Amino acid sequence: MSRDPLRHIKPVVRSIAAYTLAAREAPVKINQNENPFDLPEALKRRVMEMALSRSWSRYPEFDPKELVEALATASGWRADGVLAGNGSNELIEALLLVTVGEGTKVVIPEPTFTLYALLTRILGGDVVKAPLGPDLEYDCAALLRLRREHAAPLTIVCSPNNPTGGMLTTAEVRALCEDGDGLVVIDEAYHEFSGESVVPLLSEYPNLVVLRTFSKAKALAGLRVGYLLASPELVREINKARLPYNINFISQLAAIAALEDRDALDGTVAELVSLRDALAARLADTPGVRVFPSRANFILIELSHADPKAVFESLYRDGVLVRDVTSYPRLGRCLRISVGSPDENARFLSGFARALEAAATLEKR
Ligand code: PMP
Repeated sequence: MSRDPLRHIKPVVRSIAAYTLAAREAPVKINQNENPFDLPEALKRRVMEMALSRSWSRYPEFDPKELVEALATASGWRADGVLAGNGSNELIEALLLVTVGEGTKVVIPEPTFTLYALLTRILGGDVVKAPLGPDLEYDCAALLRLRREHAAPLTIVCSPNNPTGGMLTTAEVRALCEDGDGLVVIDEAYHEFSGESVVPLLSEYPNLVVLRTFSKAKALAGLRVGYLLASPELVREINKARLPYNINFISQLAAIAALEDRDALDGTVAELVSLRDALAARLADTPGVRVFPSRANFILIELSHADPKAVFESLYRDGVLVRDVTSYPRLGRCLRISVGSPDENARFLSGFARALEAAATLEKR
């Protein structure tokens, strides 16, 4: 008799690679699209004081009412259509748990954030890959065609897209929502940097779901808060797959405080957008570098001559950690650079120039 405990693991799970990130640290860490500007010290102290006045031996509220109300007010959508999660990752999972079973077709553009396809496969669903256009822009016609061809109950689009930076227009999201009744999930993790959102469409389309996070513009990645916006009927069902007490009370307090202190955060978003545009312009002036237009807080670049893995390692030796995305489909020559503080961006640019020079010297040998 076989004693291999792994035979009880679903074959599909055995066949896929985990979502991982190489455990590397560096003085200039621009590999995870985090906000380089931390929340104000005064806000952090206020949150910790509130946390100290609570009993840590008690569970948080069953339904985080105050947080949900604050999210509803901030996003302009009804509170009974809001679901808060331990990061938006958790809500992607909850949504897929209640929609995807054996053979469920899920249309997902490629390349994009890898978690959608990973969880879909674990749940037995079939990923229908929608290719991006020649310049890695979204191809809405392809999305519509595949959605129809497969009568797909679910389409998931990250807009702006991680890691390419492109977006669907509001008209394109409308077209998707109007084409059949399949759910259209728009992951707006980076929406603050684009200045656009499809939240106003929620009142028109009961098949639209919007995901958002506090991990990027809201500078709260360490405390794990995300939220989902949809019709109250959908939220009621997705909520069934949410784990009880999913957001600890310190994270709830911090998210509420971050929403109250919006002005400070809006300022950092505006600064990051101008830093992004300045960085993109500098990179576009660099021979052998193609820059893809980005509406997010990161920039995807393609290197025509230098080996991206060698450039990645050279930057790392210089204390700069970027994201190696060469394993993504179509991104074999690409790196993703998160926009950092002015000092971090300068250190990246000088390390990058050295890395390109070293690559050119190698080639001449
Ligand atoms: N969606 C996208 C597109 C992301 O890039 C990320 C994080 N990299 C997430 C969701 C997950 O965010 P959270 O920290 O809220 O789980």
